[in-house]
Amino acid sequence: MNTTKEKIFITKPFLPPKEEYFKYVEKIYENDILTNQGPLLKELEEKLSSYLGVKNFQYVTNGTIALQIALKALGIDEGEVITTPFSYVATTSSVLWQGCKPVFVDIEPDNFTIDVNKIEEKITSETKAIMPVHVFGYACDIEGIQKIADTYGLKVIYDAAHAFGSVYKGKSLLDYGDISCCSFHATKLYHTVEGGACVVKDDEVNKKLDLIKRFGCVGEEHFTLGINAKQSEFHAAMGLANFPYIGKIIARRKEISQMYDKALSGLVQRPKRQEGLEYNYAYYPVVFKSEDELLKVFEMLNEEGIYPRRYFYPSLNKLPYLSERQSCPISEDITSRIANLPLYPNLKDEAVERIANIVKEVL
Ligand SMILES: *Cc1c(COP(=O)(O)O)cnc(C)c1O
Repeated sequence: MNTTKEKIFITKPFLPPKEEYFKYVEKIYENDILTNQGPLLKELEEKLSSYLGVKNFQYVTNGTIALQIALKALGIDEGEVITTPFSYVATTSSVLWQGCKPVFVDIEPDNFTIDVNKIEEKITSETKAIMPVHVFGYACDIEGIQKIADTYGLKVIYDAAHAFGSVYKGKSLLDYGDISCCSFHATKLYHTVEGGACVVKDDEVNKKLDLIKRFGCVGEEHFTLGINAKQSEFHAAMGLANFPYIGKIIARRKEISQMYDKALSGLVQRPKRQEGLEYNYAYYPVVFKSEDELLKVFEMLNEEGIYPRRYFYPSLNKLPYLSERQSCPISEDITSRIANLPLYPNLKDEAVERIANIVKEVL
């Protein structure tokens, strides 16, 4: 057991220089406004929507509530939602929380996004929407999904929690579908401690979502059933302080990913990058040959105080509280063998080499 070295976890949230955050906190004290669509939140929304090149950008409390109010704003509170089993639990739970049934479509073995060729066979008269995930920042088959949605009159809500900073065919990956939902949680590439966003295509739906996120009312006038998804000025302050570092964060993640690539090429399976995708380097997933191999690598890394993560695991079609068993053999296989290696801007070159060498040795 190596006790002298600092422990290395899968990720470590980026923190801006204190003074830069405090400068925004001082503004909060001056403005004397803490929440309810305050001036810092407005400033952050403007900066992020222009950085992403999108309109109708709604900053909310987290990525999970973003998914839930996206479904709500599109009027989806019953029936079936086609989704992927290879994601974080929030994708499935938001569908269930909205009173809908998640219908799982298995994934592509190449890049772990929903398999567009298996969607149509799962469509029934109850199907209302498709909720795919841009897994690890890789793009789904956007054209294929949209074509099916248009044919069957379905809504498309992207769980784009990993997609911030990825660009597909010249547009932000958040600019596709009826609504794209992002997460700005502390562990994500760009964060505001907790936070999320909805990017909404249609102006009317956008207005509705804007109402839903603040109790469905304006003053004493009540228009629709809402919830509280408003974000605070302190979170917006962290977002503003982190904003100037987005380019640097992505560049450093790219450097680290390329170091891993060089060391591990041929030893592990990596996701296939789509043509037309400028990748954001949000994660460094590796697929091992077997679960045994993964467990051996984990054991050796853990001994050295290094903690990668099984992500995603388990396959969401296996959640114990689902009422019905649905089979997704590819997702079940990949989840048993996939892990993410540590990747964050402050990870040192020596640490990357050390991690890569240990993995190499075991393999
Ligand atoms: C992080 C994440 C979410 C949830 O976002 P929160 O901001 O943590 O609520 C949803 N889906 C995926 C794929 C995620 O990784």
